[in-house]
Amino acid sequence: MHHRLSVDEFIRGITAADRVILGRAVTLIESSLETDRHLADQLMVGILPFTGKSLRLGITGIPGVGKSTFIEALGKVITQSGHKLAVLAIDPSSARSGGSIMGDKTRMEKLSQDPNAFIRPSPAGNSLGGVARTTRETILLCEAAGYEIILVETVGVGQSETLVKGMTDVFVLLMLAGAGDEIQGIKRGIMEMVDLLVLNKADGDNKAKTLAAVADLSNALHLFPRATSGLEPKVMPCSALTGEGIQELWGLLQEYQNITTTGGFFGDNRKRQNTDWMHDYIRNALEEMFYHNPAVKQKLAMIEKEVLDGKAVPFHAAQTLLDLYAQNKNR
Ligand code: GDP
Repeated sequence: MHHRLSVDEFIRGITAADRVILGRAVTLIESSLETDRHLADQLMVGILPFTGKSLRLGITGIPGVGKSTFIEALGKVITQSGHKLAVLAIDPSSARSGGSIMGDKTRMEKLSQDPNAFIRPSPAGNSLGGVARTTRETILLCEAAGYEIILVETVGVGQSETLVKGMTDVFVLLMLAGAGDEIQGIKRGIMEMVDLLVLNKADGDNKAKTLAAVADLSNALHLFPRATSGLEPKVMPCSALTGEGIQELWGLLQEYQNITTTGGFFGDNRKRQNTDWMHDYIRNALEEMFYHNPAVKQKLAMIEKEVLDGKAVPFHAAQTLLDLYAQNKNR
């Protein structure tokens, strides 16, 4: 057993880039124990002055598109150019069921051996809102530990993509040419979120088809709404397997950071994300207080059944419970 670290020991360890202490800090903020939460809150306040200096990169794509292979390849380019990289994940399936679409197999084996990379899998068994909170806090911890590139990965499921978009500076969608993926992405309205569209597996028999799809998509991009940055999204081919195109992509991401920083969008976006984060926190905390309130808990099942049986109108039932909460909130 480790001895329990104090807030100061955590802060000193993290800012000295101690990976073991960083790992323990992430475990601490993922804990739902009351005493841990208290320590975690103090820790977050303590490290705040050391945070913010990173490029936060969101990556999404359906299972099988090549995300882990891509992150290995991009990660290698990033760490070899002298930067420290943290890879975090939001797996909506593990939030819901404790299972995992991202797979329990050891992912990104090479990158996990790299001393300049810190890889943390998606926290399990929590609500998606809870996972969003711990991921945001983990981003800040990693920044305080000197990680300059923070990559947050998720799978192509609507809500988790919105969450990742809301905590990153640039959002990359990984796709495959053909298979109707372009249409799917467009339908779900994801194009509005995307800064960079990457068509992976541009190798072997698939190369010509992929390059043609890149050309088609590039021509169609002006039909889509501009990304929030005001910049037109870019389309790029790559092969995560051979590494072709990865270096160019890294160049493009850095260029994006430079342009948006100079133009002011980068900083404004972060400020907006911070206020969104505050409101998320309030919503989550209110919801938790409501559903944990003893008076609400006592009546909830009964009132839910009345709604189910058509004996109560939903908004009326909700109001009854909210009144009950308001009258009993200090108990
Ligand atoms: P994920 O589920 O999105 O993380 O996808 P993986 O990285 O696990 O890749 C799924 C499969 O696609 C694996 O068999 C990879 O080897 C393969 N793959 C990934 N990237 C490429 C690529 O650029 N070219 C080719 N030909 N195969 C790839």
